[in-house]
Amino acid sequence: MKYRFLGRTGLRVSEISLGSWITFGGQVKKEDSLAFFREAWSHGINFFDSAEGYLEGKGEESLGVAFKELGWERSDFVVVTKIYWGGEGPNDIGLSRKHILEGTAKSLKRLQLDYVDVIMAHRCDPATPMEETVRAFTHLINSGKALYWGTSEWSAQEIESAHNAAKTFGLIAPICDQPQYNMFTRDRVEQEYLPLYESYGYGLTVWSPLASGILSGKYNDFKVPEDSRLAIKEDRFMVAFKEKLSTPEGRAQIEKVKRAGEIAKTLGCTMSQLAIAWCLKNKRVSSVITGASKTSQIAENVKAVQVSDKITEDQLKQIDEVMGNKPPG
Ligand code: NDP
Repeated sequence: MKYRFLGRTGLRVSEISLGSWITFGGQVKKEDSLAFFREAWSHGINFFDSAEGYLEGKGEESLGVAFKELGWERSDFVVVTKIYWGGEGPNDIGLSRKHILEGTAKSLKRLQLDYVDVIMAHRCDPATPMEETVRAFTHLINSGKALYWGTSEWSAQEIESAHNAAKTFGLIAPICDQPQYNMFTRDRVEQEYLPLYESYGYGLTVWSPLASGILSGKYNDFKVPEDSRLAIKEDRFMVAFKEKLSTPEGRAQIEKVKRAGEIAKTLGCTMSQLAIAWCLKNKRVSSVITGASKTSQIAENVKAVQVSDKITEDQLKQIDEVMGNKPPG
């Protein structure tokens, strides 16, 4: 495993990290999740991602059990959790000072930790004044509940506004965003955020490198394996992904995956490894957050670190041509 600095901080995170959306406490029973953390750890993964909203806190609970049972030194691992979707009540959602403080307290309890390394705002909340939100995250850091704070899927303008509020009121500014980034989704990371890298050294921990599995090539024949997330009938996102497969847009995406699969063959790697390695070729990315419903997927995906070293400029150009979505930059 290799490690990168998270943005302009001195915090080192593994190039590949493990997330918990849909999997832990859902597809993977809480009691079976330990094996996943053991597997990740054995490959040098030191960075784990969660959110209060993942399966109503079950994702965080699984991480909490793992941290306790596996007996890792707290200084050896890095945890991110995200606040926004905390429940049904009027004050259980968003980025008010009340929800940020109460939501984080509940998350820490589920994680069985005194602090998280990075606390993130899972989305921007236009209904709450920016000063209130920045002040609340500053308070969490000053009271030792988090070491840094970040954003997730905020626009560049919203991040600028948080930095301006921090400067004006002498508060702590966010250090990184958590955006979607994969071969299909590039604009925000490669174009919109460009000024943020220059001004703030803004870091990135990117999600869905496989576009929920589509970039693994497992859906190339349009069949959905029963043990894959697209077969989950209770999750509206997965139902929508499954339905999209047979639309013209979905078919066009699968065609692209098939063509990119030929490039993976020339590299002697799997399509999943190529897709993750492609994210790592972007040096703005601090860590690529992967998901896994089987421990074997972790073992396969971590090899993307080596694949990334092998990808040539020519192969990157070929991928740009196949995907046809490289932003002007
Ligand atoms: P991916 O796009 O990489 O999808 C992961 C899923 O793909 C796995 O759970 C598995 O699902 C399948 N898969 C993984 N490896 C392989 C493989 N080698 N071969 C075939 N199939 C494979 O990532 P996620 O969408 O899970 O996102 C990663 C993490 O990012 C999340 O866990 C979460 O922590 C974070 N996230 C953050 C968001 C935000 O708004 N900030 C939003 C979404 C995610 P299966 O086996 O079931 O097919």
